Amino acid sequence: MLHPALVKRIERNLAEGQLTQREIAQKLGVGRGSVLAIAKRRRSGGQCSNPMPEPHEVEKPIEPAEWCPGCRAMVQMPCLLCTLRHALANGWLKRSLSGHDAPLRLDLKPTHRKRYEQVVARRKAEAALQTEKKQQRRNRAEDKRRRVRAAERMATGQPS
Ligand SMILES: [Zn+2]
Repeated sequence: MLHPALVKRIERNLAEGQLTQREIAQKLGVGRGSVLAIAKRRRSGGQCSNPMPEPHEVEKPIEPAEWCPGCRAMVQMPCLLCTLRHALANGWLKRSLSGHDAPLRLDLKPTHRKRYEQVVARRKAEAALQTEKKQQRRNRAEDKRRRVRAAERMATGQPS
């Protein structure tokens, strides 16, 4: 028996009509027989004739990895990286990021932790860049004020 979420995905792919049954089976990692059975069921108006599972399907992960539209990585949806970014953007994780090496108050798998740390590092880099840009803007503004003052002095004939 296929997981209901997987059946839904197969149905959605069939409804979209972009892929052949063989392509859907390959894309989702299921047997062609299952796709065929679901297609038949759709045509017969949804009357259930449960496709028999093929042995290799039984232990499949629930959802195959897919391209995350947020970060364009191949991940199991929902994407952990984007979930974390969202949490960071909303300040939900502020406390755990407050110190330079504040302990991570999340129980993450090593691969997830690595990506989490990449996000943190990127945010720090972005913050540093913002500070630098702000300083440059301030310097430019100060330059301009100096030039304007010099021009005013020239115009009014005051010694500089
Ligand atoms: Zn993502």
